[in-house]
Amino acid sequence: MNVFIGVDDTDSTKGMCTTYLLTELIRELGYPVLLGYPRLVRLNPNIPWKTRGNGALSLSLPGDSSTAFKIGEVGGRDVFASFTPSQELPDTAALLESASSVVERLAVFEDENTNPAVVVSPSRPDAGFYWKAVRELVDRSEAKAELLKANGLYRTWKNGRGIVGATAAISWLAAEKTFEVITYRKKENWGTSRKVEASAVAELSAKFPSTFNNYDAVNRHSCILPSSPCPVLFGIRGTDPALLPEAMRYVGGEPIDRWLTFETNQGTDDHIVEPDRKPELFHSYLLRGTVSSTPRTLRGGHVFFSISTEFGSFTCAAFEETKEFRNVIKNLAPGDTIRAWGSLKPGPSVERFNLEKLEILSFGNRKIKISNPTCQSCGRKMKSAGRRSGYRCRTCHTKTAEPVYATAHPQIMKGLFAVAAGARRHLTRPPELMAGDNMSSPEPPS
Ligand code: ATP
Repeated sequence: MNVFIGVDDTDSTKGMCTTYLLTELIRELGYPVLLGYPRLVRLNPNIPWKTRGNGALSLSLPGDSSTAFKIGEVGGRDVFASFTPSQELPDTAALLESASSVVERLAVFEDENTNPAVVVSPSRPDAGFYWKAVRELVDRSEAKAELLKANGLYRTWKNGRGIVGATAAISWLAAEKTFEVITYRKKENWGTSRKVEASAVAELSAKFPSTFNNYDAVNRHSCILPSSPCPVLFGIRGTDPALLPEAMRYVGGEPIDRWLTFETNQGTDDHIVEPDRKPELFHSYLLRGTVSSTPRTLRGGHVFFSISTEFGSFTCAAFEETKEFRNVIKNLAPGDTIRAWGSLKPGPSVERFNLEKLEILSFGNRKIKISNPTCQSCGRKMKSAGRRSGYRCRTCHTKTAEPVYATAHPQIMKGLFAVAAGARRHLTRPPELMAGDNMSSPEPPS
């Protein structure tokens, strides 16, 4: 019989990382073989109280040693996993005690936003709880009710909010998944600048085509390095877990303390829903609609435009950090039909649909002004009557609204576009993983 252990909300932006805590848990529990890979499960990216990427962690044990394979090195020992459970019967109460002592040793309790929880359950709670936690806002009481149904035990600290993530992390069925190998720094280097050759990171995708989101070549940014002072050196994402250790060695860098391969829901779009009713704040959607305003760029380089959908009109936003994605957005025009992936968040004046990806399906008619109009009464060229006031004939004072237009060709291609790799959400399925999703690749306008 196997047991599921979940843990969440132990870290802070100033240090620690719940994935590191999981490696310590593996070291201290002392089980030689895990059942399957440990899991790094990303949840609703829109919750207002997350510290970073809203990640929760889980593992299952024990696994059968005769079918075990290596998935990491922690504390100077190899870590193994097997897809076959062992016949051993673990003591759930003892596991909760051991896991709690690891949390008490490592969690950043002094951070007011750190509210840890550990759950230990002899059965997997209903998968519906994972789907709710990745797409909606969930109450702690719902997590406790799910654990009760699964005969699970839990311990929480401070406001105990971590119980939502810890329970969701053991509820995930991993039907659709990717993997990430994470390397951890030697303790004496924590907080110092990370020593990893950018050139090796830049070559990763070519050398290991099953890896993704490694390097942003346009902005020369190594996406595998975290930006916080946490114990992680780097994390390489990919669809083939067998190749990730090799990719890890290829990148190299400063000497590491430990490494571990995780199964994750990153790059699955699990957070996205095709709405069947009016979209709500703090949820992520795939909207289909028609561009209804000319995009405008505001101070700071953020670009906004409106789309009209069957659920009403939405203000779409592509922020500065989305980089060259904004060049596509700036060239949209009223009448273009699009599919837009993103999240509905509050803005200073109106709600905003913050874009993650966009597919251009068809182009509306584009027109550009080629000259001022000719007066219909006297045949002379008309002059501007002022901003947004149309045109006026200086001779006979006739007025008209429109200049002379010509049809313009779009300066963008149809197809799928995503924000710059460095600005992508963990859950967002990158375009390179969408080949089987019946997506159109960029093509010139017809
Ligand atoms: P990480 O640093 O690992 O990327 P994070 O620090 O951004 O993640 P957490 O520290 O895990 O995020 O904090 C998020 C908190 O929100 C946790 O307490 C978690 O239980 C809770 N939470 C996660 N998803 C939901 C949800 N859908 N509804 C309500 N609470 C949630």
